[in-house]
Amino acid sequence: MGITNEVGIDLGTANVLVYLKGKGVVINEPSVVAINIDTDEILAVGANAKQMIGRTPGNIVAVRPLRDGVISDYTTTERMLKHFISKTWGKGFSKPRILVGIPSGVTEVEKRAITEAAIQAGGKEVRLIEEPVAAAIGAGIDISKPNGVMIIDIGGGTTDVAVISLGSIVTSKLLKVAGDSFDESIIKYMRREYNLFIGERTAEDLKMTIGCAFPREEVAVKQCSGRDLLTGLPRTVEVTSKEIMGALDESLEVICGAIREVLEQTPPELAADISVNGIVINGGGALLYGIDRRIEEFVGIKVTIADDPKSCVAIGTGIAMDSPLLRRIK
Ligand code: ADP
Ligand code: MG
Repeated sequence: MGITNEVGIDLGTANVLVYLKGKGVVINEPSVVAINIDTDEILAVGANAKQMIGRTPGNIVAVRPLRDGVISDYTTTERMLKHFISKTWGKGFSKPRILVGIPSGVTEVEKRAITEAAIQAGGKEVRLIEEPVAAAIGAGIDISKPNGVMIIDIGGGTTDVAVISLGSIVTSKLLKVAGDSFDESIIKYMRREYNLFIGERTAEDLKMTIGCAFPREEVAVKQCSGRDLLTGLPRTVEVTSKEIMGALDESLEVICGAIREVLEQTPPELAADISVNGIVINGGGALLYGIDRRIEEFVGIKVTIADDPKSCVAIGTGIAMDSPLLRRIK
């Protein structure tokens, strides 16, 4: 297939994915930038920068520019985008047309900031698509019909709960409780229970390996190392999946509560469709063991994890680039 100049971007709080038309997902990297604050020089972007989180000397910071919201650090977001776009886009090519996924309910100011960042980063024409719409398309759901579909994107910084019908969002809620909150809860738990201070990367690793939202068939155990808060020295303890589930409980309840709220605000005909069709979850958080079962038991509706949950949005932007549905999206 020939090279086209159309690019879809999933600008996530934890990961950035770039979809090149005709090629598929060509970049999939953590949204992290390492900067030397003395010289303002970018030292690393993506996976290399993520490894530096919590491990940098004083003059270097590893930042996640989107971490706490849509764009919490505009300049760094722009520089990061520029880096990824130039990696996709060799010099000498004409400027790409870009379609960027944005969370539901972002403000006009935030939309402008994202558009501007993509233009500054080298885009010729920049359009935006609501992420739940892109995620549903990427998950292979036909959203063009007058049929209610619920899609829940559990990312790093945000969980986006949305009901879609006829290609548009009918009801939605964007929460700042997602994968990062899970990690923070684990850090707090380890401090409270073991007087052990652990880093973000260690917490995330515990979550991904033994964490769960529903009891595992067999309790899993893992060694966890950090700094003992009493002695100040490194120490290793053993933690179980049951403990991690307990630590995540509060955040999971918040997410389940938000899903219920959105269902309550959904018009009855669409709610009826959802109870028949079930709910689809995507995003990296959908990979937390048992989160599908947990939501399913809470709302009493079948929950399915999308195929390739971390890539749905990027794939959806790729498909949507050619879709007549996009005409409706500002
Ligand atoms: P965003 O769209 O906000 O960039 P992603 O959809 O890429 O976020 O999801 C990132 C989140 O998913 C992170 O919090 C990460 O820790 C979490 N995650 C990834 N894999 C797993 C896993 N196997 N189990 C639990 N959480 C996971
Ligand atoms: Mg996302």
